[in-house]
Amino acid sequence: MGGKAEKGTPKYIANKIKAKGLQKLRWYCQMCQKQCRDENGFKCHTMSESHQRQLLIFADNASKYIDDFSKEFADGYLELLSRQFGTKRVNANKVYQDYISHRDHLHMNATQWETLTDFVKWLGREGKCVVDETEKGWFVAYIDRDPATIAALEAKAKKEKLDKDDQERMLEFIQKQVERGKKEDMDEPKYTELKRESSQERLTLNLTLKRKVEGEINIVKVKTNFIQLGLN
Ligand SMILES: [Zn+2]
Repeated sequence: MGGKAEKGTPKYIANKIKAKGLQKLRWYCQMCQKQCRDENGFKCHTMSESHQRQLLIFADNASKYIDDFSKEFADGYLELLSRQFGTKRVNANKVYQDYISHRDHLHMNATQWETLTDFVKWLGREGKCVVDETEKGWFVAYIDRDPATIAALEAKAKKEKLDKDDQERMLEFIQKQVERGKKEDMDEPKYTELKRESSQERLTLNLTLKRKVEGEINIVKVKTNFIQLGLN
């Protein structure tokens, strides 16, 4: 992907700097990628017309370089994070160490972030990760923005809401039945027991109402076990 950039373009220079791993060599002009032999050679180089011209080009495009480097760094970091850990919470520095262990990685000193903490905070602000700071440093958890994942989550939430609405309607219906029962009865219900049969995840509502009818005491048992909870 790097070989196609036209010579002299920011992408071209970015690729060249990246290939060199942004080495901090002595008497090395990073901007021109020129190695000088000694201090005197370096001084001569910085006075040269080619260096001065390069300096002007770089000054015009400095923010563009930094944007490109920053995007590439963030993309690489997030790609590694999501591939290796999915949406699991993980130490930000561990991911960073993995990232910089790869050859041709982009160094953070070429990006807009001065420290890993700056970068992690940015990930949080941009909604790319859930981030939190602990005594062991910053942790990150990738937020999956894949359209298919989002669609699946939305469908699940919608279904849960429908199930919840059904449950609420049913509970409301039962509540009304109970209220009506109370009004009709001379006595209060003896007890109301809510029991869940754990194996079937069913809610069983046993209502035992004591009712006096013409002086006789009848026990009326109402069993409703048709409420299916969406807990699977
Ligand atoms: Zn130079």
